[in-house]
Amino acid sequence: MNAFQPTHPIAYGRQHITADDEQAVLSALRSDYLTQGPLVAEFEEKFAAYVGADYAVAVSNGTAALHLAALALGVRSGQRVITTPITFAASANCVRYCGGEVHFADIDPATALLDLMAVRRLLESHPKGHFHGLIPVDFAGLPVNLEQARQLCDEFGLWLLEDAAHAPGGSFVDSQGQPQHCGNGRFADLSIFSFHPVKHIATGEGGMITTNRRDLYEHLLRLRTHGITRDPAQLSRPNEGGWYMEMQELGYNYRLPDMLCALGISQLQRADEGLARRRELAARYDAAFAEMPAVCPLAGAPGHAYHLYVIQVADRRGLYDALREKQVFAQVHYIPVHRMPYYQGLGWLEGDFPKAEAYYAHCLSIPLFPSLTDEEQAYVIDCIREFVSEPELS
Ligand SMILES: *Cc1c(COP(=O)(O)O)cnc(C)c1O
Repeated sequence: MNAFQPTHPIAYGRQHITADDEQAVLSALRSDYLTQGPLVAEFEEKFAAYVGADYAVAVSNGTAALHLAALALGVRSGQRVITTPITFAASANCVRYCGGEVHFADIDPATALLDLMAVRRLLESHPKGHFHGLIPVDFAGLPVNLEQARQLCDEFGLWLLEDAAHAPGGSFVDSQGQPQHCGNGRFADLSIFSFHPVKHIATGEGGMITTNRRDLYEHLLRLRTHGITRDPAQLSRPNEGGWYMEMQELGYNYRLPDMLCALGISQLQRADEGLARRRELAARYDAAFAEMPAVCPLAGAPGHAYHLYVIQVADRRGLYDALREKQVFAQVHYIPVHRMPYYQGLGWLEGDFPKAEAYYAHCLSIPLFPSLTDEEQAYVIDCIREFVSEPELS
């Protein structure tokens, strides 16, 4: 057993803040702008360039990004949208905010991603036009094959919204053998990201929507600020005066302040470094668990962005508790959305998505974040090895 003893709990994920980050936020604080200054556009431009999209819209958090995306895509009462049960509730909730109906399809057990074959079966079992949109999630950082998702959506007339909260910097390989980055706007109508502290890029609260569609981009800018526009080309009374602006539809205040954009810009500069470290740590976990038949990690892939490192074990509750006693704070991602009391109130039942439920019964996300040290990771691996090799439990 390792001699290393942690002096503080090792969580499954955490932010990494440097002196440069602190300096960037301080400069913004001392500038003329606390809310919508020049750093908003700078963060948007740099983020769009990072993922390879034409446009990006910064918003107050990932959930606000999902809400505005659903509004811009026209979700309203009577519309039906399909997503995965293995995701954070916000991926589904955005449809409910707009009065739409959430539907689920089961996952692929090897990856825990939405199974596009299950989506196809669901689509084929209803007349065309029954469903309106699809929200796949790059769960744990493994990018969805959006080329295939797009083909399916086109065949059935659905829009495509990628929840890429777990996967900035991730990519899948398309049918031409080319890498396609999450959020690059080539396949999805819109993609969303979150800057919650456990995600790759942290701004405290924060989110981003990326797209290549100019119409959606302009609509999102209006929706982010109360539905108000000042653009003379969009005004119904263009000559009323310099102060004049119009609220043309019901929007929100979902703005991301300059101070947080400063932090985002600073963090974005280190995004590739953080991603490389996540992949290095994941490779080391892969190698360690290859020797432990009782521990089954989710499938990897070259473009995986590794927001989470998920293992599956027989006695998940036992392992969770044993790790906690040793200061390793693992987490479960996710309790299936359709099992949440709110969604059960809408008619979903336990047993509706057996693969998602079987995955949930055994999954555990173990520590993975760029500042996790080699020593800490070795300790986590030792704790897991010790647990699975106890004879009465294995
Ligand atoms: C974190 C997350 C969100 C929501 O982001 P917030 O910034 O916390 O609102 C949405 N979807 C997924 C899959 C997430 O992990």
